[in-house]
Amino acid sequence: MIVMKFGGTSVGIAENFKVATRLVAERKPRDPIVVVSALSGMTNLLVEFCREAASRRDLTARFAERHSELAKATGLDERTIAPLLSSWREEAATHQGGQKPLDSERRDRVLAYGEQLSAALFAAGLRALGLEATAVLAADAGLVTDDRFGAAHPLPDAFTQLRASLGRRPPVPVVTGFLGRTTDGRVTTLGRGGSDYSAALIGAALDAEEIQIWTDTSGMLSADPRVVPEARPVARLSFAEASELAYFGAKVLHPKTLLPAMEREIPVRILNTARPDDPGSIITAGVEPTPGPWRVKSIASRAGITAVTIASTRMLLAHGFLARVFEIFGRHHVVVDLVTTSEVSISVTVDDATRLEAAIPDLEAIGRVEVRRGLAIVAVVGEGAPQQIGLAGHLFTLLGGVGVGLEMISQGASRVNLSFVVREEDVDRAVRLLHRGLGLDAEPAPMMVKTTMK
Ligand code: ADP
Ligand code: ASP
Ligand code: MG
Repeated sequence: MIVMKFGGTSVGIAENFKVATRLVAERKPRDPIVVVSALSGMTNLLVEFCREAASRRDLTARFAERHSELAKATGLDERTIAPLLSSWREEAATHQGGQKPLDSERRDRVLAYGEQLSAALFAAGLRALGLEATAVLAADAGLVTDDRFGAAHPLPDAFTQLRASLGRRPPVPVVTGFLGRTTDGRVTTLGRGGSDYSAALIGAALDAEEIQIWTDTSGMLSADPRVVPEARPVARLSFAEASELAYFGAKVLHPKTLLPAMEREIPVRILNTARPDDPGSIITAGVEPTPGPWRVKSIASRAGITAVTIASTRMLLAHGFLARVFEIFGRHHVVVDLVTTSEVSISVTVDDATRLEAAIPDLEAIGRVEVRRGLAIVAVVGEGAPQQIGLAGHLFTLLGGVGVGLEMISQGASRVNLSFVVREEDVDRAVRLLHRGLGLDAEPAPMMVKTTMK
């Protein structure tokens, strides 16, 4: 069994939609389970619907039109989505008179329409190719979660339920990505970009042979192509490398995707729907380091970072200072990414500054607190790269040469990631410079990669 997940552009552009359905049909002998995202732009539209009371009427119509247009452009009978579209109009009508943004529970119920319509269209597309296929709501498939609407966590029971409900095939299930439900039946979402995570959860539950993420790039690239247009696909990555990249900003994979796959050692492939013959990237447990002097495979970056420094003159020989700092962060649910310490201070980065506000008075009780906003983390990733003698010197010399200052550096703990913090306005320039300076834009040395069936 394989899981094939198609993202927004793969289902939202008529040409890609046709390729995607054909790719599934071709893989019929491998027993595919399909997972889909909403059509590109539709989750953003629904988010706007929930936020902007005044635009709801217009957005209700635009949402419906977009799906009808795709049905037409792909030659599908619009009647297949008619019941869902009327249900959408009814749901939308209940919010029409409101003045305020919707609360998170209602918001998730609205967002669910994106994936529901996409799954209905995709299943119809497969049936048009002669395949027995059916759209399945993740909720009905048993993807049970807690009730943190907007960022729900799957419950351990989800695995058993998914296995039981998706275990009998055909028809080929086309499951809504991104969605779950609470044990009492209310719709939840797993966080933006969460369909990748849905695919991995389903793959892990059913012990898939492979999880395929079909998207709009030919694999995990050596940098974000919007920042570095000459970025190249990385043929092979380890789970650790890909996890670090996803966590530090490589949007092509939702950061939680690799966890379920890693636990069951299921290979994850990233493939391009518009160029299905490209080899893409394969992510597995054991991967040899990349040849070349620096062993770097890719650079990711994430803006919107805040650094907090807590300085205590009492830290000198005062045991328990770090424990107290982290106890405060823990109590306020502040997630910390990078940490550096000196004799008298500790600096950390956080990406959700809203929770930080509440923690500051407590931190001030144990030391002097300095907060710096508008920063970005750059993660330079490759198995063994941080251990390469001279890499840090090389990177920092390059950055220093163009006047990019470093706010924080974190080497050490990870075998695969050397990260540092720069000012937000410098980050794209820094990534471009390092990409070139590390030779990532050059033709890679041919590797002895066996071509396996995709
Ligand atoms: P999908 O809708 O298929 O889930 P996403 O938009 O979520 O696609 O993710 C794909 C996008 O991620 C790419 O188009 C690219 O702009 C962005 N991206 C950022 N970093 C990387 C990277 N290292 N490799 C590939 N894509 C990346
Ligand atoms: N449609 C959802 C989003 O845009 C989930 C996904 O695309 O993975 O966030
Ligand atoms: Mg995505």
